[in-house]
Amino acid sequence: MSEVMERPAAARLRKTDYDAIVVGGGLGGLYALYRLRKMGLTARAFEAGSGVGGTWFWNRYPGARCDVESMEYSYAFDDDLQQEWHWPERYGTQPELLRYINHVADRFDLRRDIQFDTRVQSASFDPGQNVWTVRTDKGDVVTAPFCIMATGNLSTPRVPDFKGIERFKGRWYHSGLYPQEGVDFTGLRVGVIGTGSSGVQMIPLIAQQAKHLHVFQRTANFSLPARNAPMDPAIEARHKSQYPERRAAAFETPFGIAGFPPPTKKALDVTAEEREAQYEAKWAEGGSISFLYSYTDLLLNKEANDTASEFVRNKIRSIVKDQKVAELLAPKDHPIGTKRLCLDTNYYEAYNRDNVTLVDVRSAPIQEITENGVRTADGEYELDAIVFATGFDAMTGALKEIDIRVGNGPSLADKWDNGPTTYLGLMVAGYPNMFTITGPGSPSVKTQMIIAIEQHMDWIGDCLATMRDRGMTRIEPTPEAERDWVQHVNDVADSTLYPLANSWYLGSNIPGKPRVFMPYVGGFAGYKKRCDAVAANGYEGFAMSR
Ligand code: NAP
Repeated sequence: MSEVMERPAAARLRKTDYDAIVVGGGLGGLYALYRLRKMGLTARAFEAGSGVGGTWFWNRYPGARCDVESMEYSYAFDDDLQQEWHWPERYGTQPELLRYINHVADRFDLRRDIQFDTRVQSASFDPGQNVWTVRTDKGDVVTAPFCIMATGNLSTPRVPDFKGIERFKGRWYHSGLYPQEGVDFTGLRVGVIGTGSSGVQMIPLIAQQAKHLHVFQRTANFSLPARNAPMDPAIEARHKSQYPERRAAAFETPFGIAGFPPPTKKALDVTAEEREAQYEAKWAEGGSISFLYSYTDLLLNKEANDTASEFVRNKIRSIVKDQKVAELLAPKDHPIGTKRLCLDTNYYEAYNRDNVTLVDVRSAPIQEITENGVRTADGEYELDAIVFATGFDAMTGALKEIDIRVGNGPSLADKWDNGPTTYLGLMVAGYPNMFTITGPGSPSVKTQMIIAIEQHMDWIGDCLATMRDRGMTRIEPTPEAERDWVQHVNDVADSTLYPLANSWYLGSNIPGKPRVFMPYVGGFAGYKKRCDAVAANGYEGFAMSR
């Protein structure tokens, strides 16, 4: 990482309000501010929420918890920070993660560069001056030569446009826009719509409070036990004593997470008994990466994957007492791991409670929301509250909501009409000096997000330092480099089982969204090497100019 000392304002890259504008005050935006300040650059961040945290600010639903272990899911940029912070549980809860992110903001005095409660509405680039002008819903108009989009991958909540929602007499919520003060469901008839990671986490807890819980399931998802537990002091001490080595080792792994021995065998090269024992051990250990690491080919070979999928289906059948319900909960339409593999605490067990009913809205779809609840093709379910755990306009939603243009050219939303195109998930051809942190085409959601954020922002910081050293004021990918990268992202995805699932990775949760595989699934290690090589080769594939 190259760092540059504080320098006088006159030496700034241009005479603009700031050297960079950062959109977003989540984990990406905070690290962008830290990194830019370290380089002596000035920056302003805009954040729609009233506090820092991004995902962990908004997703306050019951049971919200990270599915990557706390000792890994944390910043690596400051050793004192990682040594001093104590994570109380194996997996951080939303309140704990938010406390950590606030601590980081205060510890590094980042808040003074963030304007909260402010949504960026547009960003327009003047190609003659090489300056971005950003406008907000609060009337701000600010300029900078660079714009860094730290807008998150799952930050545009989506409520399906069910007919009649405005008539509902009860209260309704979305998992990603959950009230700060929480919701007390005691004595209420509650409906949860959606059984992805958010639904799977909240259902067991809402079931404990509600008078009755109806779960409206369209597609069953695979979920594994998290085996959350209080932090084991011995594990914490060992991890901390190895932190720098473990962080370095994470860069050499496909998911950016160290500590799991990589698999060496193919699933079908061992006996059925050996496979069963292996899956049992992983099930008992808890965690999704560990489970998918059982064999080398679980995400590559359907037959291999079938063995793991069937193991989990059998677990569901053994946990859920009503076998009709168990069969509905056992996913059969996609190979395990090709949609985000959920982690839970007592999810399947919740369906053994008398006050929980699974409603199959695949066979009898939701037709409308009525005054009193939800009407499916089978009848009406009376409810006092509805929680939409219906997901997000993932990876592109937040960027497409901002009117991003260069001169009089098309908006980014128009350019991405047929799916997002980027070079390395870092920049978009035709949109100079705008960087995306963990944008589509980067490993992003297929990694431990914080390591991906740090890797991106370090690359961007080094790139800005190089530009400054060379007196360059403009950078953008060539159309050829972008085209080849998009092709590569798709080729890699097509060589795996991922496209077999209708997932948000493909945009298939949003009606009308083009079906394009968005994250890069070639592995974080190879991706980072590619980014480093591009920089070492003089920013190959990028055009830099004055
Ligand atoms: P999601 O995975 O997209 O799940 C949305 C759910 O809503 C799906 O079950 C979907 O069914 C259902 N749904 C959507 N529209 C519907 C409709 N019109 N009728 C009936 N059902 C409908 O969203 P999510 O659970 O919020 O999770 C999104 C991502 O956020 C996760 O994959 C994960 O990456 C991240 N996340 C992580 C954690 C964690 O770290 N533990 C927790 C929460 C979220 P279909 O499948 O049929 O579309």
